[in-house]
Amino acid sequence: MDSVEKFLAHAIRLEREAARRYEELSAAMGTEGNRELAGFFGRMAHFSRLHLAQATERGGFRDVPTLAADEYDWPDGIPPETADWAGVDAMMDARGALTLALEGERRGHAYYATVAATTTDPELKVLAAEFAAEEAEHVAELEVRLAGCPA
Ligand code: ZN
Repeated sequence: MDSVEKFLAHAIRLEREAARRYEELSAAMGTEGNRELAGFFGRMAHFSRLHLAQATERGGFRDVPTLAADEYDWPDGIPPETADWAGVDAMMDARGALTLALEGERRGHAYYATVAATTTDPELKVLAAEFAAEEAEHVAELEVRLAGCPA
């Protein structure tokens, strides 16, 4: 990855998918009667949309290209936060939901960290590292919740 504009196009797509996923998890936990976790996933959806808005705002100073599906440059060709996303299982419990969310955050973090580590563009390096740091916070928060969740 060597273009801030192209990176932002990826980030916008990635955060939008993440928000959608959290909304699904929130709805599933609401159905389960787990209001606390439903609220948490709802907040995570909100943060993804906030992050998306920030990415879009940064893009406002530039021309964020509209990429065709085959112009995205995802590892394995799949948006990282949706890889292996089979949708929410009706029988999913809190542990299952947190595990699924954690896997998504880890993939998102790995994506941004890889861009930060491999790009030759110094501005993009800083930007991708900021996104990676934010995802690292999400990973840490989910790990704490999962550790406190009964098996
Ligand atoms: Zn995240």
